Amino acid sequence: MINFKKILCAILAVCLIFALSGCVIKGNEEVKNTTKASSQRNTITTTEATTTTSTTVTSATPTATTTKKKVTTTTATTVYRYPYAYAGFNPTETDMSVKFNKILLNRDHALPDGYVPKLAEAVKGSGVKLDYRVAPYYQKMYDAALADGITLEPISGYRSFERQKRNFENEIKLYENKGFNKKDATVKASQVVLLPGTSEHNAGLAMDICSLSVDFENTKEFAWLQAHAHEYGFIMRYPKDKTEITKITYEPWHYRFVGVDIATELKQSGMVLEEYLS
Ligand SMILES: [Zn+2]
Repeated sequence: MINFKKILCAILAVCLIFALSGCVIKGNEEVKNTTKASSQRNTITTTEATTTTSTTVTSATPTATTTKKKVTTTTATTVYRYPYAYAGFNPTETDMSVKFNKILLNRDHALPDGYVPKLAEAVKGSGVKLDYRVAPYYQKMYDAALADGITLEPISGYRSFERQKRNFENEIKLYENKGFNKKDATVKASQVVLLPGTSEHNAGLAMDICSLSVDFENTKEFAWLQAHAHEYGFIMRYPKDKTEITKITYEPWHYRFVGVDIATELKQSGMVLEEYLS
């Protein structure tokens, strides 16, 4: 009996030892697994880190695109003012910090690209527009003339850069058809039509009145304007005897708003705007 008990105890002891050693092995495996998982986690983290780096590189790409966009804008800037450099035209951007009535526009002074004035109808119902600050003066002048039996029909007020460009290039073609080479045709055209962006029409500051013919100087409408336009702030911008300065042929129909004070001074002195502003 005693021996049987001893044998049983020994068997139990051996079983216990096996059971315990099994736990230790299992435990070791668990430790190993945890290490493996942790190492995998580390790998994931590294991948994330790499991704983050890639993102930084990607975000550098839009910066490059922005730079490209800027270059494109610069190219667009050249559209209106510089395509005629072959004929010697390279106007600078005019000073826009002055009061609107003193903005100088001519062959050498252009509006900033894309400039569009706020507009209003020069005469109610006419559909012809001017800068909203100028339109009320035209309406007043129109009404005053009408009271004297004179109709100051607004022919052409505000004109877009695109329209000016078409007008200018059509004029170049006319001279080319007369046998001038491209450069000479462009110079000739510039004496009749201003370069896109350099016209007072592009700023909504000028109106062509009644006619586009030099014969306009023989009309009662012209006589009325000669006597009264300055009272409403308008001047005949391109007089016959100042073409050397204005670089534009005589235009008895083109009236520019400069304000009553300057218009009066110019009328009394016989100066053109270039002389007054210099
Ligand atoms: Zn005009």
